[in-house]
Amino acid sequence: STATALSACIHNAARNGVLIKGGNYVEALAEADSLILDKTGTVTEGRPRVVSLHPTAPFTQNDIIQMASAAEEDSSHPLAHAILDYARLNGIVIPTHGMTEVVTGRGVRTTIQEDEILVGNRKYLKENGVDISELQNAIHSLEQKGEMIIYVAKNRLLAGVIGVHDALKENMKKSLNRLRHLGIDDIRLLTGDIAFQAEKVAKRMHMDDFGAELMPEDKVRTLLSMQGSGSRVIMIGDGINDAPALAYADVGIAIGNTRTDVAIESSNVTITNDDPLLIPSAIQLSRRTMETVR
Ligand code: ADP
Ligand code: MG
Repeated sequence: STATALSACIHNAARNGVLIKGGNYVEALAEADSLILDKTGTVTEGRPRVVSLHPTAPFTQNDIIQMASAAEEDSSHPLAHAILDYARLNGIVIPTHGMTEVVTGRGVRTTIQEDEILVGNRKYLKENGVDISELQNAIHSLEQKGEMIIYVAKNRLLAGVIGVHDALKENMKKSLNRLRHLGIDDIRLLTGDIAFQAEKVAKRMHMDDFGAELMPEDKVRTLLSMQGSGSRVIMIGDGINDAPALAYADVGIAIGNTRTDVAIESSNVTITNDDPLLIPSAIQLSRRTMETVR
């Protein structure tokens, strides 16, 4: 019967590390024709590490890592982990600081004594009137290398930038090639990161399109417009910022080392061991199952 075939499929998938939360998602997986992927933690490892520190005079490398680690101490963002790991490895003492404000898709704000510390992306600093031109050469060369940049400001003056590297996941490109062979012919990257980085990753992965500097609701908007034009969309993500889109997708798939509880709860399928090749395998298995029940 159909029910038996679907539950056999779900059992099979589960044995390989793909948790499908219901028979209806087996059908949706089999019928999907489009794919949206988040970048950080989904296409990339999501385990970024600090590779360079560029202070503005009179600040030192030590100063900017101290300010950044104070601001990031209470954040669970992968970029916060990169800063805190670096501080720990280098024996940096994290200064006592005030309450931290987390600004989604932007960064974090705290105080050290009377000083306001802002740590985050370019947009966040610009919105707070911080002039970043002093470091434009360093920023440009970090961008060319494909590194992510964390900006640090003290009392609205640029104190430095921190270059962070996040490697692409080993089997993601292979996985996307297989998906294309399976007829998933609209593959898009949607990210909170800047356009330069998004474009670089999208090109390397031979994706069809990308969207950058997106907030969670922007990812949903793109998804809904694709569905509105008749696409059946799989969304793959790992973070809180992906949860709304995961919930609206025809199939929401949670993947990644940093996979948050919210992402898992909002998803219909969970990949337990972070292997991108399990995505095309799950689609093939679902299609074979649907053929037997029709
Ligand atoms: P994504 O996972 O798609 O990159 P996020 O919404 O988590 O998106 O973050 C978007 C951007 O906001 C990040 O690329 C980073 O530049 C900035 N950002 C967010 N949180 C932090 C943080 N705690 N520290 C530094 N930058 C941050
Ligand atoms: Mg992410």
